[in-house]
Amino acid sequence: MGRVLVTLTAAAAVVACSVATVAVRRRMKGKRKWKKVVGILRDLEEACETPLGRLRQMVDAIAVEMQAGLVSEGGSKLKMLLTFVDDLPNGSETGTYYALHLGGSYFRIIRVHLGGQRSTLEVQDVERHSIPTSLMNSTSEVLFDFLASSLQMFIEKEVFNLSQPVKRELAFTFSFPVKQTSISSGVLIKWTKGFAISEMAGEDIAECLQGALNKRGLDIRVAALVNDTVGALSFGHFHDPDTIAAVVFGTGSNACYLERTDAIIKCQNPRTTSGSMVVNMEWGNFWSSRLPRTSYDLELDAESMNSNDMGFEKMIGGMYLGDIVRRVILRMSQESDIFGPISSILSTPFVLRTNSVSAMHEDDTPELLEVARILNDLGVAEVALKVRKLVVKICDVVTRRAARLAAAGIAGILKKVGRDGSGGGRRSDKQIMRRTVVAVEGGLYLNYRMFREYMDEALRDILGEDVAQHVVIKAMEDGSSIGSALLLASSQSVQTIQSL
Ligand code: ADP
Ligand code: MG
Repeated sequence: MGRVLVTLTAAAAVVACSVATVAVRRRMKGKRKWKKVVGILRDLEEACETPLGRLRQMVDAIAVEMQAGLVSEGGSKLKMLLTFVDDLPNGSETGTYYALHLGGSYFRIIRVHLGGQRSTLEVQDVERHSIPTSLMNSTSEVLFDFLASSLQMFIEKEVFNLSQPVKRELAFTFSFPVKQTSISSGVLIKWTKGFAISEMAGEDIAECLQGALNKRGLDIRVAALVNDTVGALSFGHFHDPDTIAAVVFGTGSNACYLERTDAIIKCQNPRTTSGSMVVNMEWGNFWSSRLPRTSYDLELDAESMNSNDMGFEKMIGGMYLGDIVRRVILRMSQESDIFGPISSILSTPFVLRTNSVSAMHEDDTPELLEVARILNDLGVAEVALKVRKLVVKICDVVTRRAARLAAAGIAGILKKVGRDGSGGGRRSDKQIMRRTVVAVEGGLYLNYRMFREYMDEALRDILGEDVAQHVVIKAMEDGSSIGSALLLASSQSVQTIQSL
């Protein structure tokens, strides 16, 4: 009996000992895995670094590329497209106008009434709908008939009664690269932001819409074809004549600004009355070897529909930030099991959207419950708080890089037009610095506070406080749609400029 007890006790001791060994091994393995993911985070931080010196190099590179793009067609990755817009709205416009805006994620229809004064601008109706994904890969006929039918429904809902039939004037706000041939016509250069309707490159966009409207018997004239950034600039200028540039941070990203016509060397005969013209930079395609590119960016680009294209947009556009974050989390989950078994949802491109990134980034609950909820939606359930904190950090690194690069882009424009305080090497910067307004719109900027804050901070750092106090960033909602209608109103009194 006594011997049996001794044997049992010894056996229990052996079991306890091996359980302890397993626990120690597991802890060590856990520590190694944690170290591994922390290493992945450190590598990401390092690869995304944007110190001030690097941002200043970006500013210089952007200004140089802008210049190159103005000198010759194809002289730069920045297309620096002519818009034939030389006069921006100033508040004196009158009449009722419509705008139909095809963005990267949404299309909008608006009607505005202008009474000849800024204060009498009346945005009478606004409709905003998601663009069905199926439409992005459909045919030109399907796309334009969809837009025409949406417009038809909008008009049929109008409550006011017209005593006699009126021809409606419409601005088509189009958020993709177009080679304009006049203020009301232009051909598609290429699709971006996930759109792929193959037979359309080279087609006149305004004609396509006009054809679809005619087919439905709608008495609407597509009287202006306006890039969304140009719409935003028009809206900004309508309210504040010091507005000289506009930037969109939405699904994608782009900018335009007012340039002196004599600086647009590739345009032999711009024939503008104001001596300046709005240039659509198409800055999403900016590239420099100094951009802080990571392996995640390379993968994203390689797997995208437009690889080797739109490199800048893929680092700062709302369509892409979520996917960069997703790729980092996926890498971590592949190299350790801190996220549990690899989730097939997490392996799906674009499943993590940038609005979820901002929701995680700005989660202020002590337990990071929003992070837990979003990870759960991605098939990653019940991760420890320290892992959730790690995810927040990833969001921070990716968004901070985007916002700082965006700031460098804005500073690049200011440098190009001599509003960055460098004064062309002159010392009397302060005296010559004029108030400069940059209109900014887009869902990323308007809805993601951390993006805004990082961008504003970086812009102040790049410009320095003395110059930054003269630069105003003005956020505006629906600016590009409303602004296009305003531009159409102001262009009614101006002769359409002939194509080159
Ligand atoms: P579009 O690009 O169609 O003109 P928006 O300017 O409204 O549309 O931008 C939509 C994009 O803005 C979304 O695809 C998303 O990337 C980004 N976005 C919208 N809401 C948020 C948010 N809360 N946080 C971060 N990004 C957002
Ligand atoms: Mg937009």
